[in-house]
Amino acid sequence: MALTGIAIFKMLPKTNCAECGVPTCMAFAMKLAQGQADLDACPYVSDEARAALEEASAPPIRPVAIGTGNGGLKVGGETVLFRHEKTFVNSTAIAVLITDEMSEAEVDKRLERLNTLQYERVGVILKADLAALKSTSGDAGAFAKLVERAVAKTEAGLILMADSPDVLQEGLKLCADRKPLLYAATSETADKFAALAKEAKCAVAARADGIQDLVGVTTRLTEAGIKDIVLDTGARSVRGSLEDQIILRRAAIEQKFRPLGFPTITFPCEMTDNPMKEALISSMFIAKYGSILVMSDLDGALLFPLLVQRLNIYTDPQRPMATTQGIYEVGGPKEDSPVLVTSNFSLTYFIVSGEIEGSRIPAWLLVMDTEGLSVLTAWAAGKFVGDAIGIFVKKSGIVDKIKHRKIIIPGYAASISGDLEEELGSDWQVQIGPREAAHIPAFLKMWTPNGG
Ligand code: SF4
Repeated sequence: MALTGIAIFKMLPKTNCAECGVPTCMAFAMKLAQGQADLDACPYVSDEARAALEEASAPPIRPVAIGTGNGGLKVGGETVLFRHEKTFVNSTAIAVLITDEMSEAEVDKRLERLNTLQYERVGVILKADLAALKSTSGDAGAFAKLVERAVAKTEAGLILMADSPDVLQEGLKLCADRKPLLYAATSETADKFAALAKEAKCAVAARADGIQDLVGVTTRLTEAGIKDIVLDTGARSVRGSLEDQIILRRAAIEQKFRPLGFPTITFPCEMTDNPMKEALISSMFIAKYGSILVMSDLDGALLFPLLVQRLNIYTDPQRPMATTQGIYEVGGPKEDSPVLVTSNFSLTYFIVSGEIEGSRIPAWLLVMDTEGLSVLTAWAAGKFVGDAIGIFVKKSGIVDKIKHRKIIIPGYAASISGDLEEELGSDWQVQIGPREAAHIPAFLKMWTPNGG
């Protein structure tokens, strides 16, 4: 049973040293009770108190690690029902299904798509995460061959899927060091799966026919010493599965019900044969509340929107996404190319740089650190103002890259032009650019280094 803030406070050192990032031990205790702080943040907790506080300080949904190195990821660790309450923590992992009855050529194609379908957006690499290797033949040799092939051809994390623990074990022997997720322990196989997971130190999925049975399986796994568990309620209809996801999330977060306090795995690949519908179902589970979703295949046209949706949902709403301050070269600019300045809100940067690129006129783009605020918000907050921009421009090193001394500011920030000119000095000319990024190409086409 979770402890109250007061009960936790009694076990803290009560020195109010603030090293944990909050001003008092009481405030830290309250955060721990709400699952919003990590006990490790306090360096002074005694071992005795640490053991007692472990349950209270753990997030209501246990974070579970799958894979190692570049292919490693975490799922779970969530503390809220709704993203706007705080933030969602570990992104939904996307897996592609590969079976041991597929031809080698088909297996290779899927692994190739898993490895190569990658997109950069707002400075983040977006890609699918896991290969779900499934024994459909029931043959241990065929499964081992599939696992061997996948291990050789991808660094991505792995899910080993087999009904029989004996079949799964043959695959696990080949990749235990990659810490795959073992899928799935049922009420019949829980003990054998627990033994495999314990020996290999891997996470294990629990599958049941409904939530009540699932509690029985997770309880048995927990009693066997398994901590890292992933939940599958067995539902394969869209409605049933969505309902289950919501029930599981509420049970974990609102009731702090430990037997269901684990991340989940969902199977859009088993809910439809229509790829478009599968993408829509996947999209639903990204929002509510699939920790892992297994897709029947990866198609760039369907995967990309899912990855962007995932990025948006799992971005902390209290921390704007920001681009690094600096000089960005768009289209190979030269010393007589135009210079534009903007804020470091990632979306602003990508829209502005995209419009410059679209204009086919090479340019220098100066991105100033405004703590991730957009141009107008940063201007209103006093972070995108003439003197600050002037200091940034002088320090940026742009003067060593250009012959002219002209700088284009966003049209919405026209009022800062005087202050900026004053800060930069009389040899500079501040030009007012368009208000809308969409008008940048037309503006640049008219621009000349010698023009007024
Ligand atoms: Fe209290 Fe520990 Fe935080 Fe210091 S670091 S204020 S002792 S909880």
